[in-house]
Amino acid sequence: MSAVDLDDVVVVGAGPVGSGLALLLADRGRSVVVVERHPEAYPLPRAVHFDDETARILQACGVGDALPGLSEPADVYEWRNADGLVLLRFALGEQGASGWPSANMFNQPDLEAELHRRLVTHPNVTLRRATEAVSFDQDADSVRLTVRCAGRDEVLAARFVVGCDGANSTIRRQIDPPVEDHGFFFDWLIVDVELHEPQVFDPVNLQVCDPTRPTTAVSGGPGRRRWEFMCLPGESLDSLDEVARAWELLEPWDVTPQNATMVRHAGYRFSARWATRWREGRVLLAGDAAHLTPPFAGQGMCAGLRDAVNLAWKLDHVLARPEAEALLATYETERIPHAAQVIQFAIDLGKVICVPDPDEAAARDAAMSAAAADGTATPGPAMPPLEAGILAPGTPAVGELFVQGRISRQGSEAPARFDDVVGAGWRLVTDGPIGLPDGPVRWFGSIGGAVVAIGAPDTADVDGTYRRWFDAHGVVAALQRPDFHVFGTATDEAGVTSLLDELRRRLGG
Ligand SMILES: Cc1cc2nc3c(=O)[nH]c(=O)nc-3n(C[C@H](O)[C@H](O)[C@H](O)COP(=O)(O)OP(=O)(O)OC[C@H]3O[C@@H](n4cnc5c(N)ncnc54)[C@H](O)[C@@H]3O)c2cc1C
Repeated sequence: MSAVDLDDVVVVGAGPVGSGLALLLADRGRSVVVVERHPEAYPLPRAVHFDDETARILQACGVGDALPGLSEPADVYEWRNADGLVLLRFALGEQGASGWPSANMFNQPDLEAELHRRLVTHPNVTLRRATEAVSFDQDADSVRLTVRCAGRDEVLAARFVVGCDGANSTIRRQIDPPVEDHGFFFDWLIVDVELHEPQVFDPVNLQVCDPTRPTTAVSGGPGRRRWEFMCLPGESLDSLDEVARAWELLEPWDVTPQNATMVRHAGYRFSARWATRWREGRVLLAGDAAHLTPPFAGQGMCAGLRDAVNLAWKLDHVLARPEAEALLATYETERIPHAAQVIQFAIDLGKVICVPDPDEAAARDAAMSAAAADGTATPGPAMPPLEAGILAPGTPAVGELFVQGRISRQGSEAPARFDDVVGAGWRLVTDGPIGLPDGPVRWFGSIGGAVVAIGAPDTADVDGTYRRWFDAHGVVAALQRPDFHVFGTATDEAGVTSLLDELRRRLGG
């Protein structure tokens, strides 16, 4: 097979993670084929929450303008016991550091429809539906993926293949990595409804830690609600997963066939596990194919989109510079511990609610309500920083997410989010103009980097986001990675030059 037949990347699976990854690569000029076994988009709701970091990633995928219309912000996430006593109260705040509301409630099919709208019109993407990945083989330069379409097998060839093919991933099965399983699994009934008229639910997002029926009651996006009911010991999920039973469980919430339409009811077994290897040569895993989390932190899809934004710039870099292939190892060293920590957080939350034993629940209530009694809300969950990988250790804020504020450029019509004005990619954000030697700046430009001087005569820090950030960290510059994490920071011009040199060294020249 000649090199001209090769696409850059074949993505297996057009769920949110595969679609997001394909768009991030295609926007960098990469040729991407997406194979999806289903002939039509998957129509049923699953995820209902994404955070501000995920919103920024979706903004990078080119669907930012659609997010306000398909989601609604949530300011509170409350955990109560059977008597209504508050056990835990997350105050989510309106605006997250990434420049979007810190909690956004939505309907997954609406988001996937937006991503697919972009996929099918993107000149660098070929979306092949009703096409199932069967197996792969690879050599040092390329991967051949056998796919089945209308009963016939065909071979696609690419530099890289990424399995974004969900929990039952065919690609993962062939890689056969070890799996870390926390043995934390419970059966739940999921019920999604569309309300005929607006109804107020206060708080908008609630966990009812009632041992007689642990229940989740949250927004499912504009005009929709989601309930989740835990299957009790001795009860069968099949008996719970019945339409009449689902209406019966909704009745105490004043939700009936007269005021709502049931979009679906489905039984799920939530589990907590992840593959401990996400790569075999030129074949990689992302999203649910690599990790599964209980839903209590609303982070499964968010984690998958973090995989996508981490992997996209690394694949792009290596496609341009094959000699830098070692960079791909950092996908696993950065993402696996991060995903594992997020799963552990979801397990910790799950342990609060998945308690059907009354004595255990009473002990939990006593311990937690005392802590909650002073009325102080817990801040919304903060994502852990990156701990190892492409980072300049020893500088303030290294590995943390960088902020996104609104900026305005002289002559432009209105303030807008940073990425919409200057684009995503490597960004050296400085506190005012800074003098830098030509060589490092030229090299930085060659990897798609740009220097953005905030507060310079033509770039206003509209809400003071950057002023506050620089002051809080005592630095004059932050080098932001294309996935929005801080590579490193500097306190003076010499430090900035050293940062660029360090980045060059870490990326392999
Ligand atoms: C009840 C529930 C609630 C949830 N709540 C949240 C939440 O609030 N927040 C959150 O962030 N996450 C949540 N999640 C998790 C979230 O839905 C998933 O993490 C997300 O859908 C994973 O996206 P993905 O693209 O990795 O996989 P999927 O969405 O599963 O997509 C995989 C795609 O690959 C295709 N495919 C599979 N095999 C092949 C093959 N061999 N060839 C070609 N195509 C193939 C499938 O048809 C599918 O389209 C929830 C999940 C559930 C079930």
